[in-house]
Parts: sequence; C-alpha cells; structure tokens
Amino acid sequence: MASSARVDLDGNPIKPITICMIGAGGFIGSHLCEKLMSETPHKVLALDVYNDKIKHLLEPENAHPWSDRIQFHRLNIKQDSRLEGLIKMADLTINLAAICTPADYNTRPLDTIYSNFIDALPVVKYCSENNKRLIHFSTCEVYGKTIGSYLPKDSPLRQDPAYYVLKEDESPCIFGSIEKQRWSYACAKQLIERLIYAEGAENGLEFTIVRPFNWIGPRMDFIPGIDGPSEGVPRVLACFSNNLLRREPLKLVDGGQSQRTFVYIKDAIEAVMLMIENPARANGHIFNVGNPNNEVTVRQLGEMMTEVYAKVSSEPKLETPTIDVSSQEFYGVGYDDSDKRIPDMTIINKQLGWNPKTSLWDLLESTLTYQHRTYAEAVKKAISQSSAI
Ligand code: NAD
Ligand code: UDP
Repeated sequence: MASSARVDLDGNPIKPITICMIGAGGFIGSHLCEKLMSETPHKVLALDVYNDKIKHLLEPENAHPWSDRIQFHRLNIKQDSRLEGLIKMADLTINLAAICTPADYNTRPLDTIYSNFIDALPVVKYCSENNKRLIHFSTCEVYGKTIGSYLPKDSPLRQDPAYYVLKEDESPCIFGSIEKQRWSYACAKQLIERLIYAEGAENGLEFTIVRPFNWIGPRMDFIPGIDGPSEGVPRVLACFSNNLLRREPLKLVDGGQSQRTFVYIKDAIEAVMLMIENPARANGHIFNVGNPNNEVTVRQLGEMMTEVYAKVSSEPKLETPTIDVSSQEFYGVGYDDSDKRIPDMTIINKQLGWNPKTSLWDLLESTLTYQHRTYAEAVKKAISQSSAI
C-alpha cells in the first residue's frame, strides 16, 4: 500500500480521506474500490444493493491488508435513512448508482428517470447542505446525437470535426422526440447535471461531473442465464461476449452502423483517481473520459471481438459470425441511437494531464481472456443441461 507521502499533481502531499461510494458494487465501482484498496491509503464506505463484484475485496474477513479500510453497507438509496449519515462521515461522495443499460431506457422509462434523477436528488442535497465534495457520474449520452447526423448524407461537412467532436463546454445536447423513450436516461442525466451545476453556482457545492464514453472491461454487466436473467439484455460488450461464448452469431442492431469509442476500464479509473486526489483541479469541471483513438462501428467491434475471441479461446470462428437485426426487434418500440461519440480531450488534458493508453485490440484481448476464463465452462454446462431437457 502506498504511504501518505504520495503527492498530487502540484507536488502537495495527499492526505488519506474517507469516500462514500454509492453504487460501489457495480462495474465501475468494483474497479475503483480495487484501485483505492491496493494503491492508496483512503477508506471506502461502499454502498450498494449488491456486492458480488466486490466480494473478493470484502472476504474473507481480515485476510487483506485493507480490510479495515473498506466497509460494505447494503442499502437502496431510494429509501434508506442511513444515507445522510454515511455522506456526513465521508470527505467525498462518489455517486455511481443508476439504471444504465439501454435495453431499460425505452422499456422501463419510469424506473430509468427515477433512478437517474429523483434518486440522485437527496445525494446532491446532502452533499450541498453538509459542505461535502461530490463526484457524480453522468454519461456521454447527454450529448445525444451529433450535429453532423442532421446534415444531408453526402454533405462534406460531415467530415468536419466541428460537426461531431463532443466538447463539454460547447456541444449542445440533442435528443430525439418524446416517443423515442431511449432518451429518458440522457434527459434525466442532463437534468441532474444542471442541478449539480446550479448547486455549485448558487450554494457553493464542490462538484465534479464525469461523462464516461463506453468504458469496458472485466466484470461489465452479466452473461444472460449465467450470472444474470436469461432474458436480460446487457450492454454491447456482454451481449457480444454471450454470443461468442454460446457460439451464436453476434446480433448487429440496424446493421451495426453506429460508431463508438471504447476505453479500457483500467485507463478510465486512472482518470477518476486524478479527480479524487486533485480536488483543486477537478472541482467545478465536467470531464469527458474516453479514448478518441479507439473509434469503430459496432459492426467493426463485432468483427474484432470475433477475431480476438478465436485467438484467446482457440476455438474456430463461426462461418456466419454476425447477423443483422432491427432495433425494434432487439430493443422494442421507442429505441433510438447515438450515431457517433468522439470525446474532446482538451479539458481533462489541461486540468489533469490524463490520456488513455490501451488500444482496442489490447483491451479486448484482456477482457475476452477474462470472459472465457470466467464463463466458458458455465455456459457449456448450461447449454448441455438445456439440450438434455
Ligand atoms: P453498473 O450498473 O455496473 O453499476 C451501478 C451500480 O449502482 C450497481 O451495482 C447497482 O446495484 C447500483 N445501484 C443502482 N441503483 C441503486 C440504488 N437505488 N441504491 C443502491 N445502489 C444502486 O453500471 P456502471 O457501468 O458501473 O456505471 C456507473 C455509473 O457510470 C452510472 O451512473 C452510469 O450511468 C455511468 N456511466 C457508465 C458508462 C460505462 O461505460 N460503464 C457509460 C456512461 C455512464
Ligand atoms: N448493439 C448491437 N448488438 C447488441 C447490443 C448492442 O448492435 O447485441 C449496439 C447498440 O444498438 C448500440 C451499440 O451497440 O448502437 C452500443 O450499445 P450499448 O448497449 O453498449 O450502449 P450505448 O453505447 O448505446 O450506450
């Protein structure tokens, strides 16, 4: 474990702090807890409804050098009177709790809006009233669609970065119509961002807002029928992993033409650590956190994952590795999509000097090695059991 002699970006010693991490049992939370325990002296009050993804940090009792620095509190922030007390006990609150899988946005819009706006309100209020610093997780989806997507298909302006690169302090938030319930999530996240910003402006709340651009890696979401519901639809990394594990074609929604930039979770966690330990540089800012160099269409992602999985599993590729499905068939009515997401990195570079390092191929290789090691046997067993029935 590092000692308190560690210094921040300005050469000042970093004092150990207590962090109230809400949603600590999720994908990002689990990686952040791991990093905080193994490399810093900070304490974590880990709040979540589930703790499966951080069990290895919590059990067996006292076996780890950090066991007195992490405390799990099983609670639902919708209705738990312990929340304010836990925020008061900490120096910093990090709010990760959310419904954040696109399959839910159009099918459970009320839960999505409540989770991303209403349930976050008390967290913001308690931080503001008790003068506690807040790092709130928003999303790149607040940008919605690019300006370029509204230009004619053959317009040369579509090639001009001014029409698609997403800048925290300049780009507008462009959502579809209300019937396109996909945007319930983005809209709720936008409103909570505006509320936090206003708390900062009017009441002096010390805040940082993070906009993740498709962070991916081990422990993201679940494999349907193995460690999550059989009918569940996780985000694309887990959907494609599931297809590869079951030797089924990958489903490309509306032909897989949308574009995304993917960043390795471990690179992204470095950015969050810089925010935690450099409050003077991070407070009052909204940060894009992504990897502009890792842009692919969803079709290219599927093709690359197929190549990488064949390599790490030593299994041959399918003859037909992908099939096209309509978004209506895959997600149901009200789905819509972000066309392209390239983060501008100027602000995070200037304030925190952060840059992502890992290429898409390398991050897929380590992630799919993990998926294969963790799930291949269980998937084989589940397939043989269901064919025996
Ligand atoms: P996740 O679903 O793995 O983690 C969220 C965690 O919050 C879960 O463990 C869940 O149990 C917990 N939670 C939800 N509601 C709760 C409640 N009422 N009380 C207590 N705990 C609750 O998701 P993640 O990928 O780790 O995302 C974390 C945050 O980052 C979210 O706010 C999400 O919107 C944002 N984000 C992530 C990405 C990404 O690329 N992973 C992209 C954009 C935004
Ligand atoms: N997608 C796909 N097949 C799948 C799952 C997702 O083609 O099995 C597409 C989805 O339509 C979107 C992209 O992959 O264009 C990324 O989806 P994800 O769920 O990761 O979330 P998003 O980036 O849209 O927030």
